Amino acid sequence: MTASGRSFLAYCRPGFEGECAQELAAADAELASGGFARSQRNSGHVEFVLPDAQAATRFARSVSWRDLVFARQLLRVIAKVEGLPREDRLASLLPPIQSSARRYKDAWIESPDSDAARELAGLCRSLNNALIARMKREQMIDPTSAFRLHICLTDAQTAFVAEAEIAESSPWPGGIPRLRFPSAAPSRSTLKLEEALLTLLDADERERWLKPGMTGVDLGAAPGGWTWQLARRSISVTAVDNGPMDQGLLDSGLVTHLRADGFRYQPQNPVDWMVCDMVEQPIKVAARMAEWLANGWCRHTIFNLKLPMKKRFDEVVLCRRLVEERVDAVGKRMQWRARQLYHDREEITVFARIR
Ligand code: SAM
Repeated sequence: MTASGRSFLAYCRPGFEGECAQELAAADAELASGGFARSQRNSGHVEFVLPDAQAATRFARSVSWRDLVFARQLLRVIAKVEGLPREDRLASLLPPIQSSARRYKDAWIESPDSDAARELAGLCRSLNNALIARMKREQMIDPTSAFRLHICLTDAQTAFVAEAEIAESSPWPGGIPRLRFPSAAPSRSTLKLEEALLTLLDADERERWLKPGMTGVDLGAAPGGWTWQLARRSISVTAVDNGPMDQGLLDSGLVTHLRADGFRYQPQNPVDWMVCDMVEQPIKVAARMAEWLANGWCRHTIFNLKLPMKKRFDEVVLCRRLVEERVDAVGKRMQWRARQLYHDREEITVFARIR
C-alpha cells in the first residue's frame, strides 16, 4: 500500500488522458504548487500528484470537478493498493479506509471507462456489496457524512482508495450518467442534449430555465434529436437545417422547420434557448455563439465544439477566450460551463448565458 493524501484521481474519456492532465496542470499552475500528472493513454484515468499534503489541500479547495471540462470525476486519493490477493481483496482494501478515520455516507467500487477496466464491472459489483456490509459492521458508514468513499480498480490487483465530498463531485458512478434512449426521439444525438441539461444545469436551474411556452432555436437541427428534447418540454422550436426533420416533430405543432444556413440565421425576437450541433470548425462555431450572446439573441445556449485532432485542450481555451472577449466588449458578463460528456466523442458541450 502506498499512502497518499497528496494525489487526486480524475476519470476521463479514454484517449483524452492528455487533455485531462493538461487541464489539471493548468489549474495547478494558478496555485503554483508544482504538481504533475501520471497517466497512460486509453486508461480512462489520470493521477495528479502534488508535492505534499498541504498543497493537495489547497488544490482540493480551489479545483472543483464542476469547473473541469475533461474530468468526469475528481477524487482525493487516500492510498494506492497493489497486489490485491485474489482470494480476499477486501482484507487489503480495509486498512487504508480505516486509517482515514473518516466515516462515509456511501462507498462505490468502480473502474475507469477503458476497454480493459470495463471487464472488471462484475468484480466491482460483488466487491461493493461485501465492502458495504463490512463497513456497516465496523460502523464506518454514517448516513449524515458529507463524504463518499471511492475504490477505483484499475486492474484486478490494483486499486486507488479515494474519497470525495458528495456535494462537490459527480453524483454518478464513474462520472457517467446512464441514460436510456427515448424511443420516440429521432436520433441518438438526443442523449447528448439530455446529458448536457442534466450535468451542466442543476435541478433548480432546469426548473427555472426550461419552462413550457418558452422559445428556442436549434441550429443544425436535423433530424431533430435536440429539438425533441426542447419540444418534449413544450418549448416552441425553430429548427434550422437544410436536411429533413422528423415528421412526428413537425406534426407536434411546436416545431417550425427553416431550410437556412445556421451561421447566418438570426431570430426576429430574442429566444430563451439556442442550441447548436453543427459540425464545423470549433472557432467558427464559437464566433457565431459569441454573436448570439453579445447581441442578446438568446438567454441560454448549449452548443457543441468538435475538437481538432491535435492541441484539443488549447482549442477549448481559445474558443472560451474568444466568446468571453466578444461578450466583454459589449459590457456583458457571461457564465460558461463546459464538459466532455459521456455521449460526446471528439467534442465538448458548452452551456453559456449572459448573467
Ligand atoms: N442535433 C441533431 C440531432 O439531434 O438530430 C444532429 C445534428 S447533425 C450532428 C449536424 C447537422 O448540422 C446536420 O443535419 C447538418 O445538415 C447541419 N448543418 C451543418 N452545417 C450547417 C449550416 N451551415 N446550417 C444549417 N445546418 C447545418
